[in-house]
Order: sequence, then structure tokens, then C-alpha cells
Amino acid sequence: MTDVTLVLNAGSSSIKFALFPAVEGVQEPVLRGKLSGIGSHPRFTAQTRDGTTPNWDAQLPLHPRASHEDLIPALFDWLERHDDGLTITAAGHRVVHGGREHHGPARVCPTLLDDLAELIPLAPNHQPHSLVAIQCLVDAVPRLPQVVCFDTSFHRTQDSMAQTFALPRALSESGIVRYGFHGLSYQYIADRLPETPLGTRSEGRVIVAHLGNGASLCAMRQRRSVATSMGFTALEGLMMGQRCGSLDPGVLLHLLDGKGMSTTELRHLLYEESGLLGVSGISNDMAELEAHPAPEAREAIEMFCYRAACEMTSLATALGGLDSIVFTAGIGENSALVRHLIIQRLAWLGATLDTDANQRNATSITGKDSALEILVIPTDEEGIIASETRRLLSVQPTSSHRTIQQSRP
Ligand code: AMP
Repeated sequence: MTDVTLVLNAGSSSIKFALFPAVEGVQEPVLRGKLSGIGSHPRFTAQTRDGTTPNWDAQLPLHPRASHEDLIPALFDWLERHDDGLTITAAGHRVVHGGREHHGPARVCPTLLDDLAELIPLAPNHQPHSLVAIQCLVDAVPRLPQVVCFDTSFHRTQDSMAQTFALPRALSESGIVRYGFHGLSYQYIADRLPETPLGTRSEGRVIVAHLGNGASLCAMRQRRSVATSMGFTALEGLMMGQRCGSLDPGVLLHLLDGKGMSTTELRHLLYEESGLLGVSGISNDMAELEAHPAPEAREAIEMFCYRAACEMTSLATALGGLDSIVFTAGIGENSALVRHLIIQRLAWLGATLDTDANQRNATSITGKDSALEILVIPTDEEGIIASETRRLLSVQPTSSHRTIQQSRP
């Protein structure tokens, strides 16, 4: 029997999952998959370590209206029935918001769940789904140890200047501060950097660009967060797939008072209808926009890159200079066009790309004469959750576990 850690990364319309061997260090998962299109057209993809794709759609309730509450127990049930020889000994979850109290991974208990529920208004698209995932496992396997890993934790090394809004002090003291997000991705990249061509230079001034459907930047020195583009919620900073990024707060007042918008409509506008989708009027998906002939598609891509380059310059100031840029996440890892357009705008800093390496999504895409190192490093949020879960449980050991039945057909 092999002990494995189940990792769940629950988003608004998708749940990524993976089973990692419960041993020290970063490992390849034995199974990795995704339930996507939840609420509209649910789909499953899953791959075992040897690259085979199990055909299991028929065995899950892929009803168009199937919710997270329907799908998570079904997923756990599927894992029980299909992955013989594996014992799930722990579960680790991505939780977007840990608030001010939670600076590192934490063991699930009723008090913690109450704390995290209070943070739902600060991460309405993510937090409720993570809590549903945790509760579903508590109900299905009460003795299974569960650990939560927060996207906000990585940024708690920032000084107060980087974390504070220019608001009355009492509001800052009440918790209205810049928390920052995508911290699990940044933690993974920070851990990997010394193994990359950067080597010891990874301790220098590095900006990591997590460019996915959600997007942010993190300025690191000595592989610790110094500043980040996202703030109190996952809305601030870069333009994203459907989120607007930074916006003059006067626009919000105008939409509420001048246009009579309700807060529900405003929330929908900011989280769902803006960004690449809003500007292009075509799609929130970068790959689709790159393939689309309409000028609005190109305009949205150009704006995404313009804003990313401007934010990078701002973060370089927080670092007092810049040595390296790392691209990661779906767009950062795969879009040669986006990397090219961003680096082109940073030419005044002496940044140039190796065009061929950029087209190949190579690890080092630094141009021959570039003053900055430029890298592409795939992120692995599930991998860091698995290793953090094991690390926490090794210092807080437990005897409870769940054995998966052996019943592969
Ligand atoms: P993520 O949220 O990290 O899964 O990233 C999703 C984003 O990555 C979507 O906008 C995708 O269109 C984009 N993406 C993935 N592959 C490519 C690609 N080959 N070219 C451009 N964008 C891509």
C-alpha cells in the first residue's frame, strides 16, 4: 500500500485535484485531474503518472447543475473505488484568504472553519468553495486529517508600507489592508528558483509574474515577498481574464450613485464581466484571443501586457532595482506573444528576449545582451500544498487514516 495525500484546489467553476505520495520533498503526483465547467458544462480530465487517462465521466454526476457539494463526495468516492493500492492519509486544501491571523498552513478544526467563513466576503469567488470541499471531506471521512494552505501567507513578510492603504489608521487596524494572493504559486517558484539557471542569483531582486485567468506579480528579495500587485481582495493590480484589476475608486462611486447599480451588479461587473472579456467583448481566454482576428482581441492582449509591464516597473521600485523576471501560470508559461509584448515594454531597463527560446517556452528565455535574466517556470500549487500538508502533519502527527478499497474493475 502507498500512503498518499489528496490535494483539492477548489475554484468558482473548477476543482483541481491530485494524489501525491506521502513522502518528504516535492514529488510527482500519482494522479492529477480537474473538474471544470461546474455550474454550466461539467467536464473531467484526469491523468495517472504514466500518462494514461482513465475514462470515468459516466461514473460521476455530470449533470449541468451539479454543484461543488455534489461533485466533491462523488470525486472522493471515485478515488476510493478506482485507485487501488493507495491509502489517503491526509488531505490538503488551497484556501485563498487566511486573513491577518493565519501566516502558515493550519490543521482543520471547527474554530478555524468559523474564522475562514468570516473571510468569505473578501474572496467571494473562492473561499466558499474551499470551505465546501473541506466540509464534504469532514462529513465523508471525519477522522481524515486535513490541512489548509493560504494564498495570503507568503506575503506576510512584507513591511507595513507595502501592506497598508492610505486610509484612516483605524480602518487599517481593523484589517482593511493589502493581503496579496497567489502565495502558494509564489512559494513553489521561490522553492524551485535555486535549481534553475538563476542558481544563487535567485536570492536577488526577482519579480514573479503569475499570469493565469487570475493574475498578479510578486516582488521577491531573498525569495521572500517584498511587495505584490494584489491587495485586500483578488481584484487589485493587473487586468485579468474577467477581473478589472486596479480601478479608480471614483468609478465605483459613480456606478453606485450615478448609475444606480446595486452592489450585486457591481460585484458581478468587477469579478465576471471585466478584464480580457470586458475589453475584447469576445473571451476571457488568452489562447482564444490570440487566435481571434478581431482588432478588439488584439487590443485586449496589448492592454493586458501594457498594464503588466507598468506594474512590473512599480514593483522594481519597491525592490530598489531588478535582476530577474520569472513568468508562470497558464499565460506566463505558454504565451510567447504575451512575454514578448511585456519584455518589449521593458527594453528601457535593458531587458531582451531570446526569440527562439521564447517560442519554445524554454526555462531561460534571456536575450544574449539582456541586462535582466528572464525565465519561464511552470508552477505547481497542488505540489506545494502536498508538501506543506506533509510538513505540518510530520510535526503534528496523527494516527487516523482512510484506506481506499481495492475494487478496480
Ligand atoms: P490558468 O488560470 O493558470 O490555468 O491559466 C489560464 C489561461 O492561460 C487562459 O487564459 C488560457 O487561455 C491561457 N493559456 C493556456 N495555454 C495558452 C497558450 N498556449 N497560449 C496562450 N494562452 C494560453
